[in-house]
Amino acid sequence: MKEQLLNLIKLQEVDLQISKITRELETEPEAIQELRAELQKAQQGLETAQSELSVREKIKKEAEFELQSCEDRIKKSKQKMAEVKTNKEYQAILTEIDSLEAMKSEWEEKIIVAMDEIEKAKQVVAEKEKVVKELEKRLKEARQRLEQSFSHFKKELVELRHKREEMAKDVDKELLKRYDFIRLRRNGRAIVAVDAEVCEGCNMRIPPQKYNELLKSDKLMTCPTCQRIIYWKGILENNGNKEEGE
Ligand SMILES: [Zn+2]
Repeated sequence: MKEQLLNLIKLQEVDLQISKITRELETEPEAIQELRAELQKAQQGLETAQSELSVREKIKKEAEFELQSCEDRIKKSKQKMAEVKTNKEYQAILTEIDSLEAMKSEWEEKIIVAMDEIEKAKQVVAEKEKVVKELEKRLKEARQRLEQSFSHFKKELVELRHKREEMAKDVDKELLKRYDFIRLRRNGRAIVAVDAEVCEGCNMRIPPQKYNELLKSDKLMTCPTCQRIIYWKGILENNGNKEEGE
């Protein structure tokens, strides 16, 4: 039993390394998270600037349409002038043209203002585009660097999994099954030491009678509190001395 436990303890060390590397591979580094958040914010800013620009462009288009319609009406009024017969009609058309001219200048003014605003909005869009591009570039580079370090981890993981497979052959099948079962439910650590009657998995005390049995290391025992497989810490000290016969 002692030999089995020792093999299982070694196997667990490999398993813990495997989960540590797996976690490492799954967790996105903070620097990348921050960059991504920054990029998202910059993209939102760019979208706002783009919609601001399209609002200004729409205003300009509407003003241009109104201006065109003023010009058309002025043209028509001028044509009418040639056909008038009375001075009164003539005066009325003149007044109409005057007010149309006034409207026309108003629309022209609005177009100038809109053009000015479009120019400014375009500058803002260009600046924001630059920021977005820069952040995209930085993020891409950070990801490439990460990929490089990940490939190192991935290689290590393959080696560790292979090692685990080999080591598992030295552990009794039933024991291994039990270990794997507990491992899934106990966040990785399924076999733990008991030192001075205290389980190192849950820090609870093992009843004295049970502890005395544990010292013999001749059968599979579990912690009454956390259900993990337990062993007496002392067996680690004798490890390698081949002091069997318990
Ligand atoms: Zn325990």
